[in-house]
Amino acid sequence: MAAKEDFYKLLGVERNASDEEIKKSYRKMAMKFHPDRNKDDPETAEAKFKQIKEAYEILSDAKKRAAYDQFGHAGVDPSMGGRGGAGGFGAEGFSDIFGDVFGDIFGGGGRSRGGVQRGADLRYNLEITLEEAVAGTEQKIRIPVLTACGECAGTGAKKGSSPIICTTCHGHGQVRMQQGFFSVQQACPTCRGTGKQIKDPCGKCYGQGRVQESKTLSAKIPAGVDTGDRIRLTGEGEAGERGGPAGDLYVEIRVKQHDIFVRDGANLYCEVPISFVTACLGDEIKVPTLDGSVMLKIPAETQTAKQFRLRGKGVKPVRGGPVGDLLCKVLVETPVNLTKEQKALVEKLGESLTGGGKHHSPQEHSFLDRVKNFFDL
Ligand SMILES: [Zn+2]
Ligand SMILES: [Zn+2]
Repeated sequence: MAAKEDFYKLLGVERNASDEEIKKSYRKMAMKFHPDRNKDDPETAEAKFKQIKEAYEILSDAKKRAAYDQFGHAGVDPSMGGRGGAGGFGAEGFSDIFGDVFGDIFGGGGRSRGGVQRGADLRYNLEITLEEAVAGTEQKIRIPVLTACGECAGTGAKKGSSPIICTTCHGHGQVRMQQGFFSVQQACPTCRGTGKQIKDPCGKCYGQGRVQESKTLSAKIPAGVDTGDRIRLTGEGEAGERGGPAGDLYVEIRVKQHDIFVRDGANLYCEVPISFVTACLGDEIKVPTLDGSVMLKIPAETQTAKQFRLRGKGVKPVRGGPVGDLLCKVLVETPVNLTKEQKALVEKLGESLTGGGKHHSPQEHSFLDRVKNFFDL
């Protein structure tokens, strides 16, 4: 066997490097020699990775590092009867190596050394009113969750006992299977990769380490949220397996339909019916906004479907930006249930409107002109 390369050199750090520097450099190297990035020569990459891994195992452990600093490789190499006793890593498989580095870097779902696993993220659909969405609200929500079993403190083993190291894989969680020329690494079938066996399971959780419970949470919903927005409650998801970290809870917002307002982004829309008389002569009318009603001036001779903008009466978006507007569309109503006298008055009005030689219906005239042109073609 060739002489071993210096561990500090392997990791590209100085001899007086801090633990943090060593860790940082190790991660960088781990990325560099990832098999996905070294498809042209995975064997060399794996070999290199194992060397780096070994160097890190020694240098990240204060005792082993001290032994290495004092005695060199002889101080930590088990085959040379060294003092540090770093043994075992040589037999460790490739996926195992990457499992704990990359699980750590990318944070999600990686099975780490002790066989613990992060709990699942949960989603909770929360329906709130438009008023609550605009002003913000705090809601009590009740969710079913798997929480760490109180009886066994999440270990899955009966009170007073503890899980033992798996006898099949000796705690590695992985076993090597020889398949012809290749040696394949697999999750240990006995402990399903956890590295531990429970001889005497907890009676409350049946060895799962987790139990189904429901808990009540208080969810703060910020002002300005809209349908589809999600609020993350960190660590409020499912408990991890065997003491692993909990997942997150995502509260997904759905805003109920409102009787008056329709929301589109930061703007609110509403339709306000006005009388024929108001439309003709103009008036001030009361229109609703989310914070009380305000007076809106309707000018004389207002046509139906005209939209009035009330600046700043919309929504302040949750992600920042200017407050939206309220757009009121007026709808002119045709009077119904007319009495004889009223009909006579309308008829009189009609005669007056057609007899005077003045144009009183701007759209009707331009429309008739267009129809005429259309037929003349
Ligand atoms: Zn096992
Ligand atoms: Zn239990």
